[in-house]
Amino acid sequence: MAVQQANGEAITLVHRVMACIEQIRNTPVAAFRPSAVQKRVGAPLKDVVQVLLDMAADDSLGVEWETVCPKCFNEIDTSPEKPTAEEGKYCWHCGEEVWVGPEDATPIFFFPEKRKKGAGDRG
Ligand SMILES: [Zn+2]
Repeated sequence: MAVQQANGEAITLVHRVMACIEQIRNTPVAAFRPSAVQKRVGAPLKDVVQVLLDMAADDSLGVEWETVCPKCFNEIDTSPEKPTAEEGKYCWHCGEEVWVGPEDATPIFFFPEKRKKGAGDRG
């Protein structure tokens, strides 16, 4: 159960996150929030997000950005790219247009192979 200390915190965190991802990959879970990983590895959320985004850049993970309404915190939009500017979006939960920006978007990570249902081996 001992965690080998490598050359510093950053490398250790990457390994811990990767081990955690492999555990989740072996479950039926197809998508997860960074907070789920953060709870397991016990590192600051922004550090965990950065490691996950690096993995997504390698295509070993997929990522999409969920925008939540700043008023009711319900999901109002999902996009493959992180929003870069503020814009008005209609929240059908509130029934009005709300102003959302990059701060309101959170990354949701998913396993690409679990998203390819129907396009693969099993019919
Ligand atoms: Zn709303």
